[in-house]
Amino acid sequence: MAERIYLDSAASTPVADDVMQEMLPYLKQQFGNPSSIHSFGRETTRAVQQARKRVAELVGAKTSEITFTSGGTEADNLAVKGAAGYAKDRLGKTHVITSYIEHDAVLEPCRDLERLGYSVTYLPVTAKGEVRPEDLQKALTEDTALVSIMHANNEVGTIQPVKELCRIAHGAGALFHTDAVQAAGKISVSVKDLGVDLLSMSSHKINGPKGVGALYVRDGLEIFPLIHGGGQESELRSGTENVPGIVGFGKACELAAKNLAVYQKQVSGLRDYLVDKVLKEIPHSRLNGSSDNRLPANAHFTFFGVNGEDLIIKLDENGIAASTGSACSVKKQKPSHVLKAMGFSYEEITGSLRLTLSAQNTKEEIDRTVYVLSNVVKELRALSPFKSKYV
Ligand SMILES: *Cc1c(COP(=O)(O)O)cnc(C)c1O
Repeated sequence: MAERIYLDSAASTPVADDVMQEMLPYLKQQFGNPSSIHSFGRETTRAVQQARKRVAELVGAKTSEITFTSGGTEADNLAVKGAAGYAKDRLGKTHVITSYIEHDAVLEPCRDLERLGYSVTYLPVTAKGEVRPEDLQKALTEDTALVSIMHANNEVGTIQPVKELCRIAHGAGALFHTDAVQAAGKISVSVKDLGVDLLSMSSHKINGPKGVGALYVRDGLEIFPLIHGGGQESELRSGTENVPGIVGFGKACELAAKNLAVYQKQVSGLRDYLVDKVLKEIPHSRLNGSSDNRLPANAHFTFFGVNGEDLIIKLDENGIAASTGSACSVKKQKPSHVLKAMGFSYEEITGSLRLTLSAQNTKEEIDRTVYVLSNVVKELRALSPFKSKYV
């Protein structure tokens, strides 16, 4: 079989060679516990600090504002539950605002807060997947402790007006958290420019290793930890540091910062080529999400009269890796909560397909993908009960 084609970079990415090289010593010779006083410990402490600096630089933060976690999921949990916990205990505030299109790593902690007696408002989105600032304005009350709105959506790639949303939240005395797992390293992100209080990142979405991420916590802001123990990470996240993972994440951030402009131009160019070709060559297809406020690598389509899951299986048989949406919810076989919130009909949701690109993809791969996709869509439509409508 020909080389496989990977078009699922929003789910995960391979570890870059330079990242792996940087990690290797910390799996073997450089094994010291950063909490140890001897030279072994000092060496890994230095490595963790260098990584912290690189992560901070990617998002324009200070080194002291970065807390390492086990990934984007833990960073989101720490932000939401840590900030809400502190607000309830110290300020008596028990209201949280988020949106219907957040990743489960934000939605599930919010549901847990509801079980703990908080009230949570879920904001709707437009048909393109954008949160409307006026909806946030209306939802804020004196009791609102925290607003959590993602920077860019993992399914449809829509980028939110974070700066404006943050300003509105602050105007009502609420903190602002953004899940920037899909944004940091792919579009320019500056915590100072956005004004956010908390921001989540993950390593494995930007060619770093899995199982490591970070939460930006604005200097001076207090939140409660979720994991208690030896007091690592300035008491905010106990547990011996994942040194090789953190070192790899730091290198991945450094590379992402260095390559950002080239990445954006190259990947969005290839994505636009893919979108144009799909819409031209495959009838009854539609691009979902926003055309302007969109992640460079994201293409999300509906193919009417086709089941997206069948499409993925057929593409996989042809060596092409795609997704219907979030990698985490697909296995649960539930229709996308993001597309539902965008007002999609059952048919529009079922026929959806996400293709997310990377700088490693080539024009030849896109040509082959559209060729296969076109044939597979035709084949599936011929079997569909809506046959007469779309063939
Ligand atoms: C992948 C992802 C997460 C989870 O990050 P992990 O490091 O895999 O735990 C959270 N939010 C968004 C938007 C994501 O895409």
